[in-house]
Amino acid sequence: MDHSFASGQSIAPTAGTASRSVTIQPPRRVLVTGGAGFIGSHLCERLLEEGCEVLCADNFFTGTRRNVEHLLDHPRFELLRHDVTFPLYVEVDEIYNLACPASPIHYQWDPVQTTKTSVLGAINMLGLAKRLRGKILQASTSEIYGDPEVHPQQEAYWGHVNPIGPRSCYDEGKRCAETLFFDYGRQHHLRIKVLRIFNTYGPRMQPNDGRVVSNFIIQALNNQPITIYGDGLQTRSFCFVDDTIRGMMALMNTPDEVTGPVNCGNPNEFTIRDLAAQVIAMTGSRSRLVHRPLPQDDPRQRRPDISQAQELLNWQPVIPLAEGLQRTIAYFEELHAKQRKRVSR
Ligand code: NAD
Ligand code: UDP
Ligand code: UDP
Repeated sequence: MDHSFASGQSIAPTAGTASRSVTIQPPRRVLVTGGAGFIGSHLCERLLEEGCEVLCADNFFTGTRRNVEHLLDHPRFELLRHDVTFPLYVEVDEIYNLACPASPIHYQWDPVQTTKTSVLGAINMLGLAKRLRGKILQASTSEIYGDPEVHPQQEAYWGHVNPIGPRSCYDEGKRCAETLFFDYGRQHHLRIKVLRIFNTYGPRMQPNDGRVVSNFIIQALNNQPITIYGDGLQTRSFCFVDDTIRGMMALMNTPDEVTGPVNCGNPNEFTIRDLAAQVIAMTGSRSRLVHRPLPQDDPRQRRPDISQAQELLNWQPVIPLAEGLQRTIAYFEELHAKQRKRVSR
């Protein structure tokens, strides 16, 4: 990728055109950290569709080359193996900072590395944005509200987070990253954007990351027991990935004074039992429900108040759970079929 050009270039008119000069805007150069992950790969796709040059940086801890395989030949796409806990010197206009394992199984596998990824990753990406005077967006999370005592969650709520529990590496790492974003914003006048993403699902979720939507779909497709943790009456609000990406790009494109934090999620709230019932019905599965212990510090309820997103970004989710689940089930069915083919060869 040619990182050498700056912003607008003026070129002389070609023969036969009027004598005024024509300004050609070069593509925006965008860095997506964690771009080979579930959400990041969809973001890379959308940015390419918008005409951007996309530099995807990922250490492949939870993401894979396979997620971006279809983009590798694209002339405006570049994939870089890089760990954001180390400095990165590239030339870009905008940074989306998504690098961080997001599912409890994966972020608890090496909790120290999870905190380092959030905190050192934020420092390095903010340092990069500072040198480039670029815009930077942080993929924050509803987990910064912890096990919330206020419902639904508004951005003004400071949260209820255990600082020393098994989820803390993720929750506190993300909270510290937000602190760094706002301090770089105030101290170095950086153009920052913070998006608090609520549970997002869709194609390219990893089959092995233990998240509820992927677990239930895979279990249902295999007619295996559906694992309900606790009584299954805890709630979540599930947002289809296309809606999340639209919200993320809308925030990046707001005027500089809009920094967030802004909640991004689907305000339709379901119990985990509701979700299991819907997945079973949609797959026609013979699976039965089994109960497993509730993980420590598992939030009881979660639902975003999205009035800020509606007002500032003119955004709200448009894909209902039934449609999003249908598309996700289709993805896992296809994956399943490919795996079976590989085994039978
Ligand atoms: P994911 O695990 O699929 O993607 C994370 C990506 O970051 C992976 O490709 C992984 O390899 C990469 N990564 C991890 N550590 C890295 C490091 N040190 N250096 C470089 N790359 C690294 O998860 P996702 O669901 O796509 O989440 C993307 C972002 O969105 C994360 O920051 C997550 O915290 C945030 N988020 C996701 C959800 C959700 O429901 N999926 C909700 C809230 C916030
Ligand atoms: N950094 C980076 N790329 C850059 C500029 C900075 O990765 O283009 C990293 C570098 O590791 C630095 C960190 O960002 O330590 C924070 O940068 P900042 O300018 O805030 O502080 P410094 O540590 O340079 O004083
Ligand atoms: N969960 C469940 N069975 C599973 C996986 C998850 O009952 O097989 C529950 C989990 O305890 C939590 C909810 O589903 O209450 C959402 O879990 P997930 O890991 O997807 O997201 P998070 O807890 O980070 O919101």
